Amino acid sequence: MADLAGLVSDIASRLQAATDRGRVADYIPELAKVSPRHFGIAVITADGTEHVAGDAGEAFSIQSVSKVFALVEALSRHGNRVWDRVGKEPSGSAFNSIIQLELEQGRPRNPFINAGAIAVTDLIAEGRSPGEGLQSILALIRRLSGDETIDLDAAVAWSEAATGYRNAALANYMRAFGTIAGPVDATLSVYFQQCAIAMSCRQLARAGRFLMAGGVCPVSGEAIVSPERARRINALMLTCGHYDASGEFAFQVGLPAKSGVGGGILAIAPGRASIAVWSPGLSPQGNSLLGTRALEQLAHTMRWSVFNPD
Ligand code: GLU
Repeated sequence: MADLAGLVSDIASRLQAATDRGRVADYIPELAKVSPRHFGIAVITADGTEHVAGDAGEAFSIQSVSKVFALVEALSRHGNRVWDRVGKEPSGSAFNSIIQLELEQGRPRNPFINAGAIAVTDLIAEGRSPGEGLQSILALIRRLSGDETIDLDAAVAWSEAATGYRNAALANYMRAFGTIAGPVDATLSVYFQQCAIAMSCRQLARAGRFLMAGGVCPVSGEAIVSPERARRINALMLTCGHYDASGEFAFQVGLPAKSGVGGGILAIAPGRASIAVWSPGLSPQGNSLLGTRALEQLAHTMRWSVFNPD
């Protein structure tokens, strides 16, 4: 078995020096201010050992990684009713694409593209004020990571709300079909704020531990979701977690994972590790370039791909 501590610091020092780092997202003006030089990694193994390197303690905008936690919250609140509103298929389209909604009568393909996540958020917000909806997601994330200090970055939330025309278009389009039942403005307000939650790699890897451990938080012993639900969320992360680069990510890395345009990725090696990486430069499909490279090296060396026979 490879020396994990050495591997994590080796990956960090190699990628910190990389010159080809991708492009920082600029369609949300506040995200464009983040330096592409950052690189952080946190790996928590099943026995609770934590290995961190680089900027693992620095908070960044988790963006679409929040869609995993929002899905957990919606499933806890509504059970399988969630699947009446959103599908379970890879999209094959960009994260903010509207075209598939027209082809499929306003039903988004999965909960990890923007349209699907907005529909999930609408379920979370149902019968609640936007503030209560957001607090339920934040409370879950704080509980999972054992850290009450986690909060949103208000400047990022505002920046996204001020420029989120495409998300508003998706939400209004779905409202016309009844995929969204509540007031569009309230749902979007929760969505923009959940995307603006700021976490470090260490906090994010801690928040993902229940997905490596069959739904149980390994620290508190609390069942966050059933083993079956954990398995299904991991399946969706593997097939849909990287937008229209999900197949490529499965091919290269072979782990359930969810990316965000802030440059973070949460990856799960079931039974083995919860991993968070962050590097703000993105591939053309909107996934962290160096984060993906780090996960590829880690999964390959540790033989953590879910497709390995051992
Ligand atoms: N808040 C971003 C948006 O809705 C999330 C996209 C992402 O992280 O992929 O555009």
